[in-house]
Amino acid sequence: MEIPLVDLRKQYAPLKDDILGRIAEILEGMRLFLGPNVQALEQEFAAFCGVPHAIGVSDGTTALQLALMACGVGAGDEVITVSHTFVATAEAIILVGATPVFVDIDPQTYTIDVGQVGERITERTRAIIPVHLYGQTADMDPLLTLAREHGLWVIEDACQAHGARYKGQRAGALGDAAAFSFYYSKNLGAYGEGGMVTTTVDEIAERVRMLRDHGSKQHYHHDLVGMNGRLDEIQAAVLRAKLQHLDAWNAARRQHAQLYGELLAHSPVVPPVEADYAESVYHLYVIRVKACPEVALLTSRRNRDGLRAYLHDKGIATGIHYPIPIHLQPAYRDLGYEKGSFPVTEEYAEQIISLPMYAELTPGSIEYVAEAIRDFGKE
Ligand SMILES: *Cc1c(COP(=O)(O)O)cnc(C)c1O
Repeated sequence: MEIPLVDLRKQYAPLKDDILGRIAEILEGMRLFLGPNVQALEQEFAAFCGVPHAIGVSDGTTALQLALMACGVGAGDEVITVSHTFVATAEAIILVGATPVFVDIDPQTYTIDVGQVGERITERTRAIIPVHLYGQTADMDPLLTLAREHGLWVIEDACQAHGARYKGQRAGALGDAAAFSFYYSKNLGAYGEGGMVTTTVDEIAERVRMLRDHGSKQHYHHDLVGMNGRLDEIQAAVLRAKLQHLDAWNAARRQHAQLYGELLAHSPVVPPVEADYAESVYHLYVIRVKACPEVALLTSRRNRDGLRAYLHDKGIATGIHYPIPIHLQPAYRDLGYEKGSFPVTEEYAEQIISLPMYAELTPGSIEYVAEAIRDFGKE
């Protein structure tokens, strides 16, 4: 059996006629600049998240950058976030001229350890970016309370959390603003690049709308220094076709996660834990090799990689999201962190493995993967 990490061809097959029809219509009409599909997608995605505003942008990194710019975060400012995330979270902070200040993650949920945020707030702190990692939201209520006390913006990195819920409310509606990515492998993915900023704050929406189009409201009149950060019409049309299926796809992912969880309960790995407050959309299904002293064999990095190699030989693709924490990356050395700065982040980076996860995955494949993992434990 061959099981990929994601299988986009399986998703495309039943959508083919719908998507090709939409693209053909655009090419016949040639309304390519922030046209009817971008406008409609913005409304549909805002309704999906339960927010008044959604602004289509070129990608998720740009969405983060535009949200920060719209909140007035720039040179000399500090933004608190995590090191255990995709590099774009920290990159966007630096791109606007600010400095990322990292904290460790919660060992259960792998999202920001809210208890560590307070001690990192200084007079330069302007914003906090919680990352809803692997499809599960961060614990937002205590974070928002802290942010309100200190007058800080909260910008959700929701790039892995389209449709995820926190106490019933969708990601994208939890902070002051949120950034989504439509990178092809995300729960909602384009066939190129795409992103979205959502917000409940009218002024942020207005500023992002201008900033994504060179700071202008009216052609050739520039009130702000912005950028070219627009979403293109063809990607918007693809995303509209797919958005109709997102709830069903997320429900399927949750079912797959439940089956994985049951089958891996007594195995040499730790399945992900869904927090009481959360409804995860399992963008990734990330297990950890158990850090259990009796199973010393399985605690070293070599054996995490040993399990990956074992699965690979059985035709099972896996990933590591992410193998090197941002604070230990060469490009981020100047921030002044070192090995040991964030013990949970560093320990988990050596233990995590992402298993195949996509809506079209079959129960049979999940059983095959789980059985291979249990067999590895017996060897
Ligand atoms: C994908 C992702 C991004 C960046 O999105 P792009 O569309 O690739 O620019 C940012 N943050 C996180 C957590 C992501 O997973």
